[in-house]
Amino acid sequence: MSRKRPQVDAARLALMLTELRLPTMKAVWPEFTDRADQEGWPAAHTLAALTEQELVDRARRRIERHLTEAQLPPGKTLANFDFDAVPMISKAQVMALSAGDRWLDEGANLILFGPPGGGKSHLAAAMGLALVENGFRVLYTRTTDLVQRLQVARRELTLETAIQKLNKYHLLILDDLSYVTKDQAETSVLFELIATRYEQRSMLITANQPFGEWGKIFPDPAMTLAAVDRLVHHATIFELNVDSYRRRTAMEKQRGPGRPASRATIKTTKDVSLSDN
Ligand code: ADP
Ligand code: MG
Repeated sequence: MSRKRPQVDAARLALMLTELRLPTMKAVWPEFTDRADQEGWPAAHTLAALTEQELVDRARRRIERHLTEAQLPPGKTLANFDFDAVPMISKAQVMALSAGDRWLDEGANLILFGPPGGGKSHLAAAMGLALVENGFRVLYTRTTDLVQRLQVARRELTLETAIQKLNKYHLLILDDLSYVTKDQAETSVLFELIATRYEQRSMLITANQPFGEWGKIFPDPAMTLAAVDRLVHHATIFELNVDSYRRRTAMEKQRGPGRPASRATIKTTKDVSLSDN
């Protein structure tokens, strides 16, 4: 190697590229410069090719980091979401929202309502994944987990900082908002979060309960009203009012040939109540 490139100190070049945080160039320069020498590339061409490669890899690494930080549940994509199961939802609209466009710039929200098993978490995670792939930063969390974290921050007098830190996410996905418990509601950290993000940063919220039932999520009716008001001011609302997807697929399987319908019904009902949890 040193015989081939007597004019540079390879070890020092590697150190300099590390110092400049150019890991791709550090990894590929020997291969690129060898080819350049063999094929007689002009020096400027070689430099441009190396720089280009660094940029391509940098974009890929960035998306990988954003995917890790997003904490999305695995395996939930738009490709494996069956839109036929939710005829009231426009696939075109979901696709447009998943591209990011204006709604994230405006800090608008998306709210998914529907009974358990209807596909709210799947759709939320799939849209989150698409947005990360389109260059946005997303955090997916169970609402109760985030509220717990914010309550700790409040006790440590760092609530404002904790909420500000979430500003780096273009979209915060709060799954199962209606699972917030009465004692969690009392500290009103969720309201603080909603008020801070209002018209600044977007939220995607899923809930089993319609707004009318949100009284237990916030400390008092006035705060509930104020929270809902801010959330819906710029919001798209989807209602996935469908039977549990798992229940339906389980029933379709049971309906297969060779099974007496009477037995299938009993077994299905039992399976469903377990699998919906
Ligand atoms: P919810 O959050 O509304 O309770 P989930 O999104 O957790 O429902 O859906 C329950 C299960 O059914 C998940 O495994 C999910 O991937 C699957 N599922 C629900 N709806 C669909 C759908 N339309 N297409 C494909 N899978 C679905
Ligand atoms: Mg869910």
